[in-house]
Amino acid sequence: MTSANRVLVLNSGSSSVKYQLLDMRDGSRLAVGLVERIGERVSRLVHTPAEGERRERTAPMAGHEAALKAVAAELAADGLGLDSPELAAIGHRVVHGGLRFTEPTVITDEVLAEVERLVPVAPLHNPANIVGIRTAWALRPDLPQVAVFDTAFHTTMPEHAARYAIDVETADAHRIRRYGFHGTSHAYVSRETARLLGKDPSEVNVIVLHLGNGASASAVAGGRCVDTSMGLTPLEGLVMGTRSGDVDPAVTFHLRRVAGMSVDEIDELLNKRSGLVGLCGDNDMREIRRRIDEGDERARLAFDIYVHRLKKYIGAYCAVLGRVDAVAFTAGVGENAAPVREAAMEGLEQLGLAVDPELNAVRSGEPRLISPAGSRVAVAVVPTDEELEIARQTYSLVNN
Ligand code: AMP
Repeated sequence: MTSANRVLVLNSGSSSVKYQLLDMRDGSRLAVGLVERIGERVSRLVHTPAEGERRERTAPMAGHEAALKAVAAELAADGLGLDSPELAAIGHRVVHGGLRFTEPTVITDEVLAEVERLVPVAPLHNPANIVGIRTAWALRPDLPQVAVFDTAFHTTMPEHAARYAIDVETADAHRIRRYGFHGTSHAYVSRETARLLGKDPSEVNVIVLHLGNGASASAVAGGRCVDTSMGLTPLEGLVMGTRSGDVDPAVTFHLRRVAGMSVDEIDELLNKRSGLVGLCGDNDMREIRRRIDEGDERARLAFDIYVHRLKKYIGAYCAVLGRVDAVAFTAGVGENAAPVREAAMEGLEQLGLAVDPELNAVRSGEPRLISPAGSRVAVAVVPTDEELEIARQTYSLVNN
């Protein structure tokens, strides 16, 4: 056991770093912040300590090293510096852990080399995660750096859920299979849902609907993921803010051959200009609801397509699980958009699913049930907390 009880959680993107410093005695935040537009002419840092005013700084930050040094300086100004003996570890969100990383892992040169070998299957995410790790490691070489993988929770998926039905040799040669993402959130929310029901996670089957700007569903049986909607990359599955989710793979051949688009252009179309934004020009569910209330047909159709896909996955995962104890809505849309929850459950009474309009309308940051009393299946809103989950996993690894 160590007396150090703080964990710094870093989520490094290509041009941003999100961070939270947590006190693991009670999971409280000592500071949270964000650096964005790293590498651009002017970068912006927003830092909010638990005790004190929100501070905003703009300055050129050429790379992640400059950004993390700026974060370290802000933390130090609050007496929370990276050199503090109370800091137990740094937990890094790493998007792709492939099949090898099924658990949070203390970073070594060998681990980092393996994360680098996964760059071809996660070209958008892993490089930024690696830069974040290297930079933090250089600042505190003596401190445990822990990687917590978005894919880890999904490594329990059986082969029949994880494999695509394509030529096995080709798939294996290129590590093409369904990995799933948002695993930290699915793990946390499925566990919290069990807690809300007063049960052990091993006793319950849960469908988790993580509906943020990125969105994914998972089927969790007795605490283990048995299926999830994202695949080789986060593009598969539900309709998202800017991603298409499921399309016939032949759409890509068609765009290449008939529309003459390059592979990069198709990638950009399906990842950045599709989903809700592609359908109606907005990816914020609040704005879409506002437009629907004004009678906007495109916004209505985008909403209906979003909900239709969601229903298909709910139905599919009822079939995959056989017995469902709870459906849990989480993330920005899932936690806040009552009309999405209501529409997704509409007509599913035969599956034991329903929402109580009054409970569904309640706004709260707490986990809560929204199904009518006595329902066969509990429908719940369970706020996700990926940073707390990363911090907990990191802390329990270095404290054992
Ligand atoms: P996340 O990726 O989990 O941060 O979710 C971001 C998304 O949540 C936004 O793009 C919005 O579509 C949605 N969102 C956030 N707040 C609300 C709200 N009050 N009502 C409806 N949707 C919301």
